[in-house]
Amino acid sequence: MSIRIGIIGYGNLGKGVECAIKQNPDMELAAVFTRRDPKGVNILTEGVPVCAVADVAEWKDKIDVMILCGGSAFDLPEQTPEFARMFNVIDSFDTHARIPEHFANVDAAAKEGGKVAIISVGWDPGLFSLNRLYANAILPDGSDYTFWGRGVSQGHSDAVRRVDGVKDAKQYTIPVESALEAVRSGKNPELSTREKHTRECFVVLEEGADAAKVEEEIKTMPNYFADYDTTVHFISEEELKKNHSGIPHGGFVLRSGRTGWEGENSHLIEYSLKLDSNPEFTSSVLVAYARAAYRLSGEEQSGCRTVFDIAPAYLSAKSPEELRRTML
Ligand code: NDP
Repeated sequence: MSIRIGIIGYGNLGKGVECAIKQNPDMELAAVFTRRDPKGVNILTEGVPVCAVADVAEWKDKIDVMILCGGSAFDLPEQTPEFARMFNVIDSFDTHARIPEHFANVDAAAKEGGKVAIISVGWDPGLFSLNRLYANAILPDGSDYTFWGRGVSQGHSDAVRRVDGVKDAKQYTIPVESALEAVRSGKNPELSTREKHTRECFVVLEEGADAAKVEEEIKTMPNYFADYDTTVHFISEEELKKNHSGIPHGGFVLRSGRTGWEGENSHLIEYSLKLDSNPEFTSSVLVAYARAAYRLSGEEQSGCRTVFDIAPAYLSAKSPEELRRTML
């Protein structure tokens, strides 16, 4: 019998999860839940119902794992504990500073319901976190580096769109190549914020807006741009649509470290991702961890977990025997 998956929240991640399920024959999509009017939400899979979140309890025995695809800022802090009482759940909560608090809330709820919850699944937090942990455990004497990009930052794009005179905008975060090379060469450089990343903005102006003023306001915006070298390009609405409608992202996790009695040998661990679609990739990670939640639940486990707690074999559709034969 295949693993019955439910999706709560049908934005970029929700659609990405739907696509990922299509690539995993051991899973099937049971239903999609939304807070909007279900009649107005059109999904890709034929014959699968779109339901109101308010009716989710009716699905208690018909869904093995619920993948929560709401936003980290406002949706998941409420939704994950709420639904972990009823279902095994996965979320992509990415507000790093609030993960301990979110974990505690979800853990209490999941234990109460006898369910498994895996939180903060994706690539950062997620696969990047795992790579930081592995590299630190293996090379205790060393330095960590994480670079993001080239990719679209939703938060920074929103900040530019809020500037007076801006009609629409996209912001890319770009790692500084020379900083990456310095890390790769084993120099263990100390890098400031400005030395690690640059920011590039593509901006469509409102009619009659003052370009110089808009550029100045973006470049000096505290927290978002003031600490970076920022380039601003003014383009037409058509150009923005044609060349900047994708949601690419990615990045690098590196650790350089030393071994030997006097630390005479150096080593570099590098993990990188280059993603055409941030949400589709993130969704693919969520779906692999849904398989793990299903298996853990089958072992009568309950409570909250993160990627740190899940053994890798639980993610794979292949049996442990097949994994040992083909991948070890
Ligand atoms: P979206 O803004 O596309 O969707 C969030 C929610 O908005 C949906 O679940 C949906 O819920 C609601 N929504 C309301 N109106 C609409 C509408 N008109 N169209 C689509 N959705 C609508 O966010 P994303 O899916 O891009 O990202 C969700 C979260 O994923 C982010 O907040 C981010 O924190 C996290 N993330 C984590 C990553 C990681 O590596 N861990 C990587 C990337 C993202 P409803 O259907 O109920 O209305």
